[in-house]
Amino acid sequence: MADRNGIMSVIIVGGGAAGISAAISASKNGADTLLVESGSSIGGDLFSGMPLLGTYTSLGNQCVHGILDEIIDTCNMIDPRAYIGPVCDWRTVYGLCIKPEILCLGINSLLRKYCVKLLLNSMVTGVNSANGTVTSLRIATQGGKITTISCDAVVDASGGGNITAMAGGEILAGDENRNFQPVSLVFRMANVQFEPLLRFIRDNPEEALLAENPVLKKKRAEAAMALYNSGYPYVAISANGKVLGQAIKTGAMHPCTAAFVTPTSILLEEVCLNATRIGGIDCTDEFTVSATLPELAGQVANTARFFKERIPGFENASISSIAHRVGVRETGRIKGEYTLSQSDVIEAVKHTDVIARGCHHVDIHGAGTAQVRIPVKDGQSYDIPFRCLIPLGLKNVIAAGRCISSDRGANGSLRVMGTCIATGQAAGMAAAILSRENKKDFRSIKVNEITEYSIR
Ligand SMILES: Cc1cc2nc3c(=O)[nH]c(=O)nc-3n(C[C@H](O)[C@H](O)[C@H](O)COP(=O)(O)OP(=O)(O)OC[C@H]3O[C@@H](n4cnc5c(N)ncnc54)[C@H](O)[C@@H]3O)c2cc1C
Repeated sequence: MADRNGIMSVIIVGGGAAGISAAISASKNGADTLLVESGSSIGGDLFSGMPLLGTYTSLGNQCVHGILDEIIDTCNMIDPRAYIGPVCDWRTVYGLCIKPEILCLGINSLLRKYCVKLLLNSMVTGVNSANGTVTSLRIATQGGKITTISCDAVVDASGGGNITAMAGGEILAGDENRNFQPVSLVFRMANVQFEPLLRFIRDNPEEALLAENPVLKKKRAEAAMALYNSGYPYVAISANGKVLGQAIKTGAMHPCTAAFVTPTSILLEEVCLNATRIGGIDCTDEFTVSATLPELAGQVANTARFFKERIPGFENASISSIAHRVGVRETGRIKGEYTLSQSDVIEAVKHTDVIARGCHHVDIHGAGTAQVRIPVKDGQSYDIPFRCLIPLGLKNVIAAGRCISSDRGANGSLRVMGTCIATGQAAGMAAAILSRENKKDFRSIKVNEITEYSIR
């Protein structure tokens, strides 16, 4: 481990989906790699039980490879029954479902295998830089001690472009009026009977979001039947349906687009629920975000009650886990050499300097029951150019994950965890190459060196 005033080849800031992938990728490619995370554990939203979206297109084709394949293989070795796999919601997406505890063990196993050095409970508070080159990071560990660590390259996987901002790069946040997507607290319930839930949707298809994507080639009732036949509880109970709609009207439930139910364990009959939400807040302000936790916790209790009382299959279910942090969908995005646009995403545009692929629909949650959902054309994937990872004006800083250069619509797609893993992998590999080849600027790296094992 680098000590006070230590030296590393690559420092990754942020231990979420993107940072983990970047750290494994950089270390695997020979870089002495430090992963710095301000929280007490890694994972971010990865281990809360939500499906990994952006991994399979709406046609069911896998579009992220490399580190993701290694994660899946490792999880399967630890406990094959914990791997559920890609599941179609018969609405618009496939989500990759793995029991989150096994995902956590699998990822930690890869961190061990590739000798990634971890620094938890430690916040990067500043950078030392000159002429667009960051020479070292100032890191506050618990107790307030400041450690300075030098490096050749920095991966900004902070979720909001925090390191880019410290180095003088430009950040955009939210829409033009600084409106952000709502925050949520996801949780899990076990002892759920899947068959009665799926039967309820089969017999009342208007209660769920279904058949939104033309590539599925199904009408609503047919999609409900396909969902029933799949046996997987991957269901979005819609606010436009009678049951949730009525509960929202009477105040039994808070307003939300849908109560999203996804499988986390077949053995434990467990699902993840994503249904709480508070909108209209500035997600870049930690005081405001922190203040939402007690109210979100209240919404968790209400949602569990709603499901137990009104949704078949949940009568004997109980809460088995609650996410360890408030889920923030949107903060800052870097301004990079190329800004991925909403039309790049929905038109499935290809780029010559592609380093990762995304496939999730433009998915922007709004206030109340609002949500924008625009699928990618023909169930294809879209390309993410290397330029989206390179902040304007900076040389040895590269971004990964949710904060890469994108307009708000594109960000509503590439923010999902599968795509974050993909851009993290590319950024980590690029950082290892920069350090190994003693290059000074990410712009001098050949894109085909990065993509040979990640893009197929
Ligand atoms: C409620 C909700 C539901 C979602 N549903 C899904 C879903 O079903 N499927 C899906 O695939 N995606 C989903 N997403 C999106 C997805 O979870 C996130 O966009 C993604 O995990 C972001 O990953 P990231 O690595 O870019 O950022 P993060 O996971 O936010 O990681 C960034 C990390 O950087 C750390 N950090 C920041 N600044 C510093 C600093 N200065 N020093 C040290 N550490 C720092 C933070 O503590 C954080 O842990 C959802 C998101 C939310 C909030």
